[in-house]
Amino acid sequence: MFKVLNYAKINTGYAVNLTRRLIQVKSINPPGNESEAAYIVGDELSKLGFKVDYIEASPGRTNVVASLEGENHGKSLIFNGHIDVVPPGNLDAWNVDPFEGIVSGGKIYGRGACDMKSAIAAIIAAAKSIIDSGVKFKGKFIIHAVADEETGGKYGTGFLVSNGFGLADSAIICEPSVWGGVIGLRPAVRGACWLQLETIGRAAHASNPSEGVNAVLDMAEILLSLEKFKFKCTPHKWLPEPTISPGTVIYGGVKTNVIPDRCVADVDVRVVPGLSEHDVLAQLEDFIKDLKKKRPSINVKIKVLNYVPPAEISEDAEILKCALNAAKMIAGNVILRGGYGSNDSHFYHSIGVPTICGFGPGDHLTGNAHGPNENVSIDVLSAFIGIYAATFLLFTSSNNIQ
Ligand SMILES: [Zn+2]
Repeated sequence: MFKVLNYAKINTGYAVNLTRRLIQVKSINPPGNESEAAYIVGDELSKLGFKVDYIEASPGRTNVVASLEGENHGKSLIFNGHIDVVPPGNLDAWNVDPFEGIVSGGKIYGRGACDMKSAIAAIIAAAKSIIDSGVKFKGKFIIHAVADEETGGKYGTGFLVSNGFGLADSAIICEPSVWGGVIGLRPAVRGACWLQLETIGRAAHASNPSEGVNAVLDMAEILLSLEKFKFKCTPHKWLPEPTISPGTVIYGGVKTNVIPDRCVADVDVRVVPGLSEHDVLAQLEDFIKDLKKKRPSINVKIKVLNYVPPAEISEDAEILKCALNAAKMIAGNVILRGGYGSNDSHFYHSIGVPTICGFGPGDHLTGNAHGPNENVSIDVLSAFIGIYAATFLLFTSSNNIQ
């Protein structure tokens, strides 16, 4: 193990360069042109001796599935990272070019530095460190470098899992899990339930409003009341409580002098394990029933636009223990904590693969994922090369096959 960790340090420069090369590829989603980034990842892995397959879920949406077998059969572990990034947003807010990968003050800057091209570089550098050290290992090192995480994963992890590539003894979603330089591990992740509300009113001449029913005002009443709504559920050990953000998108009305008969608004709900899609709808329908007592004109339909289930790993899972031990070995301290966002974890959970829901070098407090001046600390990136290598070796050398 010592030899491998020594190579992990040596390979820090390799990981920094690879992170920079990946940042320089504009794999912006939408539309999500991930193929160029996929081929950079695949080429590196081929050079290291991995068997590499390119899985194109639709034109330009390429995923990499790569694996390296040890000398003996043993457990298989998937490291998953997404190669798509969100758009850079307002360029004036950036101090650097978001697609240059500038290194300054011990950090790499650029879109995807934190979320999560640095993690992909750390995974590859971890595999390289094991290979460079010459250490014999058993089991299978699998890498899924995937498209489409930022818009739900249908062409990425979802596509791989539904086409039979997701089977393994365990998986790690290498999304950010660092808080202000303190390395953490996310045992659980919240789910997302995106809703669309539609209020139906009655159109009338705006000069005589009492003849109509104003669907926009009914919606306003609903959205303002929803802002204070709290879902009933058991608090989760690691995750923030469920949240609701009403009115993230809204449109209604056709003309200044017409009472609008229709208004549509989107609502973002984040759920924890124990609060199902059905619970969300049932609780909101009860809430609307009560609100109608206050404003009888309300006539609203609720539609689910998209549902991403929450996920959590069992505290007894072998991979959880191995990852915690690896992180403690290298960083000395590791915290268990949930984040706010949702990710691809649920795809592996849906087929029964024990999966860590976030374990990677991006920093929730300083990394500015999805914002301007996104960055990653080179020290933390370097630590994760060793952490991933040690996690793999600890997991594949333990006998307790799950
Ligand atoms: Zn991400």
